[in-house]
Amino acid sequence: MKKHETKHGFELIESREIKEIKTIAHRYKHLKSGAELIHYACEDNNKAFMVAFKTIPEDDTGCPHILEHSVLNGSKNFPSKNTFMELIKGSMNTFINAMTSSDTTMYPIASTNSKDFVNLMRVYMDAVFFPKIYTEPNILNQEGWHYELTSEDAELNYRGVVYNEMKGAFSSPESIISRKCMHAQFPDSPYGFESGGDPEAIPELSYGKFLDFHTKYYHPSNSKISLYGDLDADEAMALLDDEYLKHFSDPGQSISFPLQKPFGKPKHLEIDYPIDEQKDAAGQYYLALNWTYGSVTDTYLPLALDLLVEILMRTPASPLKKAIRESGLAQDSYATADNEILQPTISLVCKQVKQEDIEPLAKLIKSELKHLAKEGLDKKLVEAVLNSREFFLREAQIQRFPKGLYYIMSTTGAWQHGGDPLATLAFEPLLAEMRKGLTEPYFEKLIEDVLLNNKHASQILFKPVPGLIAVQDAKTTAKLKTMKAGMSKAEISELVKFNKDLTAWQEEIPTEEELEKIPLLSLEDMNPNASLYPVDVEKAVDYTLLKHEVVANGIVYLKAYFDLAHAEEVDLPWLRIYTYLVGWMNSQNYGFGERSNEIDTHTGGISLMLDMFNSYQDPDYIMPKFVIKAKAVKDKVGKMMELAAEFAMKPMFDDHERIKTLIRELKAKVEASMMHGGFQVAVTRMLSPMSQLHHWKDITGGLGFYHFLVDLAAKLDTGIDHVIEQLEAVKRTCFTKQNLIISITSDKEAIAVTLPQLGILLQPVANEVYEPVENHYALRNFNEGIYAPVQVQFCAKGGNFFRKGYSYSGKLLVLNSIISNNYLYQELRVKGGAYGAMSSFTPSGYQYFASYRDPNLPETLETYNTVADFLRSFSCSKREMDKYIIGEISNLDYPNTPEMLGTKADEDYITGFLAQDRQQIRDEVLSTKVEDIRAYADMVEAIMSKNHFAVFGSEAKVKDNATLFNGITPLFKTEGV
Ligand SMILES: [Zn+2]
Repeated sequence: MKKHETKHGFELIESREIKEIKTIAHRYKHLKSGAELIHYACEDNNKAFMVAFKTIPEDDTGCPHILEHSVLNGSKNFPSKNTFMELIKGSMNTFINAMTSSDTTMYPIASTNSKDFVNLMRVYMDAVFFPKIYTEPNILNQEGWHYELTSEDAELNYRGVVYNEMKGAFSSPESIISRKCMHAQFPDSPYGFESGGDPEAIPELSYGKFLDFHTKYYHPSNSKISLYGDLDADEAMALLDDEYLKHFSDPGQSISFPLQKPFGKPKHLEIDYPIDEQKDAAGQYYLALNWTYGSVTDTYLPLALDLLVEILMRTPASPLKKAIRESGLAQDSYATADNEILQPTISLVCKQVKQEDIEPLAKLIKSELKHLAKEGLDKKLVEAVLNSREFFLREAQIQRFPKGLYYIMSTTGAWQHGGDPLATLAFEPLLAEMRKGLTEPYFEKLIEDVLLNNKHASQILFKPVPGLIAVQDAKTTAKLKTMKAGMSKAEISELVKFNKDLTAWQEEIPTEEELEKIPLLSLEDMNPNASLYPVDVEKAVDYTLLKHEVVANGIVYLKAYFDLAHAEEVDLPWLRIYTYLVGWMNSQNYGFGERSNEIDTHTGGISLMLDMFNSYQDPDYIMPKFVIKAKAVKDKVGKMMELAAEFAMKPMFDDHERIKTLIRELKAKVEASMMHGGFQVAVTRMLSPMSQLHHWKDITGGLGFYHFLVDLAAKLDTGIDHVIEQLEAVKRTCFTKQNLIISITSDKEAIAVTLPQLGILLQPVANEVYEPVENHYALRNFNEGIYAPVQVQFCAKGGNFFRKGYSYSGKLLVLNSIISNNYLYQELRVKGGAYGAMSSFTPSGYQYFASYRDPNLPETLETYNTVADFLRSFSCSKREMDKYIIGEISNLDYPNTPEMLGTKADEDYITGFLAQDRQQIRDEVLSTKVEDIRAYADMVEAIMSKNHFAVFGSEAKVKDNATLFNGITPLFKTEGV
């Protein structure tokens, strides 16, 4: 096809080969509707599609975000209320979701199955252009917000899925800070509004404004459509034209995004943020520095800014990070480059600072930047950062995320704002430009222009306010109380009726006819055979070798699994601390910065992890291991081995001050992850009293570990000798040849090149043999309530079904989907207003039900008790059942990167999971019947009747329900107990 020729209403604007990603990109414009489309023609079988709209927030009500949720609740041709959930249940997708950024709403999908791909594309196009929101106001009530009043004398509340999702998002300090920084940098631009929705403002969104927003922004002329992969583009474009685009006319007025005028001088602001009521506010200040510069449409700038942040802050050799850390003025620090918004913005955040240290810290950062701009950056560091980025771009493997969507999404910023979308994908010229930084003061000039002489900048002091959440809550409660007091009797009963009607609407089951409109593959389309993971096992004198021959484009993936069966439980937290410290300590032959540069220059990354496996046959048999992970192109394998050994096994623990600083930093990081991951905290702590595995996970990465670090940090100054002793013991005793497993994943030829060089890695490995420790785990009956300054709950309940006489089966995967995507989704999210609901049945016999960002507590625990009754009377058509089965087969068949193939095969070997086990599970999934699901009612009832649960949530909710718990644990325990 030639330029300006048309097909299916699309005019070809240009075709460009992008060698870097083995693609030919064709850009089109749909003449009648004004839609733009890019088709990426390539051989990748994991096909991707996305339709995106520029959505400009006009206030803080979160209208773009609420609309993103709402359009997926039924449309003209697919009228079922839960279209999105139906697709989750029963499609072969490798990705399906929707997301709202500060200027764009995106609807991406991916699938390896051609028929499925077309189905998903059609459902998504229908949803965005013909949603049912115009005829069904209850969609906004449910997804956005509504007044909840269950009876005349009940309390008046706000409810809604996005309302609760955002209350959760506004619960973590880091999330609050990044939002407020953005608003501060853009006071007169739409970026100054909260596109996700500020819980305080969400209730101001009216139905009329909501519909207007859709009419204005969800028009094809404001849409960008992407098609990627080995697909029939002709068929796809015909469908897009015929069923959707040709029904719209381009109004000829494009929606532009207003610019923020730069400031006359940098701003200084002070903003409050909530901390725990009992927590001491001293030392809890945050300092944020923000700089806005240039435009996303600049070809080189967005990448250059990201690399600048990497150079300054993100590697062990980064000079600004080092200066902040060594000053001891902040417990942790990080920086981000938001380079996809119209006006790219860098933010630097210093965490947990004393008030009197704020100014010295700001001065230190400025003087360090001045120094770097004047004296120049270490060119070895610049080279290391550039090589590391180049490795990432060439490898082009992202775990569990379709490559095509990664490419499509990385074009969005430039495309939305009128730049060249394809420029970011053709990365050779970009890297060539960045390499100027090796010989010229390229990044130094950016430091001058962006960070030193830039007036569009702000310095924000975040001031901790103990109990601020309670104050906000009380304000909302009072407001609602006054509102109810001012309502007439008639108004009150009208509102109660409104709530009854809403619940009745939510409980309406979609008709068979509605459901059948959602296209479905048939079971016959499913491959009956489980995938095989190639492994070739060889026993060498010093280790077991696992070879995985795959197509890996010359990249070698190495893993070394060191057995830790001799580690006592009290040692485990130290093992985890060791893995954090090694990256930042000098080692026998290198300074830590120098070593980090060598690693980035020559390899694709080296890391050390503490991992826990359990035997498939005997799940109580747990195998903790140290895992060294490394990857490099085959010519660099020798260097990789040397650096991996150096990194993991030869650290020097002689710099006591740095060790103290790093332990405090680790504490700050784990604290942030607790505040972020309430769901994980609740599930792990619920299972800990009955599972050694979960108890160990807790003390090496969960709340138990956090509390260990709090105690340790408090006595660091007096107890540093003990710390050093522990770390030296780990180094001495944890890298031995005992049960050592080495795994290599690569092409045949690259494996052959790698094998003779293994000796370099093994050279420092000890020969000592240690007796394995016998761990006796005492089960406890303990229901725990955990509280923190958060505004939502995470409620987990579960147990062990092996102990109830049941065994693992593939049918549990189908059961799990039915419970979480059907019953819990309906009860906890649709009706309860929680953002999410999950369940799990693991091959080790553990089970949980859990809610995510949940406004409720006892009500949710009570819901779990009704699951058994739901199962007992469960019924569905053959088509419905096929849908659940297809969804689970899709999960089992998720396409693996070469690295993932190797990792899975290693896990199989270590846990004793055989190819026939995988086939058996698949057979069980494929043969699941309604009766099987019903038969599990007894099992679920037996587990629930043990009444074992844990909740992570707000202080008020947890304390109000104190009688439910055997113990209440504050997340922030008093330091130094
Ligand atoms: Zn959302």
